[in-house]
Amino acid sequence: MRLVLLASTAIAMGLTGCVSDIQPANAPAQTPKIANPMTAPIQSSNPLLVDWTTPEGAPPYDLIRPEHYEPAFDAALAAARDDYRRISDNASAPTFANTIEAMEMSGRLLDRISATFFNVSSADATPAIQSIEENVAPKLARLSNEIYLDQNLFGRVDQLYKMRETLGLTPEQHRLLSETHKRFVRAGAALNPDARARVAAINEELANLGVTFGQNLLADQKASAVYLSAEEVAGLPDDQRTAAAAGARSAGRDAEYLIPATRSAVEPFLTSAPNRAAREKVWRAFVMRGDNANANDNNATIARMVTLRAERAKLMGATSHAAFQLEDAMAKTPAAADALLMTVITPALLRANEELEDLTAIARQDEISKVEPWDWRYYAEKVRKERFALDEAALKQYFPLDGMVDALFETTNKLYGVTMHERQDIPVYAEGVRVWEVREADGTKIGLFYADWFSRATKSPGAWMNSLRDQSSLRGEMPIVVNNQNLPPAAPGQRVVISIDEAETLFHEFGHALHGLLSKVRYPSLSGTAVPRDFVEFPAQVYEHWVTEPEILRKHARNSKGEPIPEAMLQSLLKAQTFNQGYLTVQQLSSAILDMRLHQMDAVPAGFDVRRWEAEQLKSLGVPEEVGMRHRLAHFSHIFDGGYSAGYYAYTWAEVMDADGFDAFKEAGDIFDPSLARKLRREVLERGNTRDPAESYAAFRGRMPTADALLRNRGLN
Ligand SMILES: [Zn+2]
Repeated sequence: MRLVLLASTAIAMGLTGCVSDIQPANAPAQTPKIANPMTAPIQSSNPLLVDWTTPEGAPPYDLIRPEHYEPAFDAALAAARDDYRRISDNASAPTFANTIEAMEMSGRLLDRISATFFNVSSADATPAIQSIEENVAPKLARLSNEIYLDQNLFGRVDQLYKMRETLGLTPEQHRLLSETHKRFVRAGAALNPDARARVAAINEELANLGVTFGQNLLADQKASAVYLSAEEVAGLPDDQRTAAAAGARSAGRDAEYLIPATRSAVEPFLTSAPNRAAREKVWRAFVMRGDNANANDNNATIARMVTLRAERAKLMGATSHAAFQLEDAMAKTPAAADALLMTVITPALLRANEELEDLTAIARQDEISKVEPWDWRYYAEKVRKERFALDEAALKQYFPLDGMVDALFETTNKLYGVTMHERQDIPVYAEGVRVWEVREADGTKIGLFYADWFSRATKSPGAWMNSLRDQSSLRGEMPIVVNNQNLPPAAPGQRVVISIDEAETLFHEFGHALHGLLSKVRYPSLSGTAVPRDFVEFPAQVYEHWVTEPEILRKHARNSKGEPIPEAMLQSLLKAQTFNQGYLTVQQLSSAILDMRLHQMDAVPAGFDVRRWEAEQLKSLGVPEEVGMRHRLAHFSHIFDGGYSAGYYAYTWAEVMDADGFDAFKEAGDIFDPSLARKLRREVLERGNTRDPAESYAAFRGRMPTADALLRNRGLN
């Protein structure tokens, strides 16, 4: 069973700041699949507990009400618990079929209820749904712990693992056995009782510290909001000023302007606020979050977390937390990740210094002799306007949502022969959700695709893909996947236009969707996107490249009169892609490098001073103080309150592959090259986690990736 905890899986997508995510494949809370051979006959009027007669076996959202979820979870958890005990207590010697395959076949009830529920808890989290989630999450975690620390069950898995070469397994079965064994080992199942108890205690303390980190950050973010006067916001674009006035008004401070200390408010402000002193105030509030020597200060929490992670890694037999984390990734070792990060940051530092010179030249016109960190975005925007003459509002008129969806489906058709057919008979969970049936070129049904592109008050921010049903030939199940975005809803009948970033996100999430839809594996726990976290973004990121290809834009980027995007505008758009990349790359990579260095310490000195350590590291890397980190440690949620410790490098790692992978199509001279498309599909998208992703990549590309294309795309070569 795949216990999805979607709420905690927000993954910031590289530099764009857009949030994009999918369920991380190797989330520690994932439990193995447990057989339920009896398929417990639960008779009930609860639509979650009876057989689904919906078309394609889709979730009957038209019948499900919030009060159905908790009793259904309780029944499904009890069934799953009985089932794992049945496997664990089996008196017969372990076989692949009665242990590993039995685990895969089982827990279907819990799987389908979890997928149905967590889809809604991220896309339409009403208070009723939120309170169910709070009640259910600890029950799921408890079952997961019970299973992973069950010594009988682990004994069976371990026995099979030790004789794996003699079992006559297929390569996929071999992989499944190794992956299952690894999950038990990484949960501490192989340790002696004392060490196991210590790991459990560390895990519990770390979970609490993670919550503390997040709560401190939220409180400090709130306390760091900046109130500005009319004079200080003079010259700000109307939409920003209106939003700031509304924010202040709702806080009871009429006649003032509120800038919250959040990225989505601060970055546009720093880009367009002419008042330098106001920029400094807002910048300081933002970068000091969690580091204000007050009750919300996160530095002590960080020191403790790093210490505990290092201790746990030692208990697990790894040299450091980073080494432990990367054993389970495509990169495999911290050294491999470090090597990539240094390859990219070195030219990025040179470029950032050149960019600084350009900014300094233009800032002199305002009698500013030294550009400060709060000046960077403001003057960069001036340089950008001067060089590329790009008018965002005019550009947007050429990006209608329906046109971009046409471009998306046509791209998919040209690459894979796949066609999309809208279905009106599938019940959806919220207004505005659309469903398509996905078919092969020969008409064979592949699965269902749900699109939930518009925002609503109850939806999590960002964009993501999730699965309502994983493809598996063992279970005879066809995939059902969902894409979510937060486009502003338009009035009925009105044309929806989106930004180029949003168009890229549309393609990105559909890249994840295809990874789920085109999966062709036997075992559900190896299906689709269940790959290591430094590989999972590759199919999504590579898909973004198509939307900015001139061939696609000339055809689909059209205004309301149907006129195509003017050629000059198209060329500016393409050229502007490498602008300010020194700054953005250094910001991102300095965060990634510090994450990796922090988690490579084998012991953390007593009284470890996080703030001083951070400053020393940045200095040793040569990061200009005008640039700094994208996420300073005191508010680096990805690594202290998310699943990304020693993992922030993964965005760059995946970008190497997406740039290098798309380059293959460019080299072939055809962005729809049939032979490459076939390889991308067969060797990557269909494979799920049935083999090492490095093998899959090399089978597609004919070699391992290099960073050349990434450096070129970012203008750093
Ligand atoms: Zn993604």
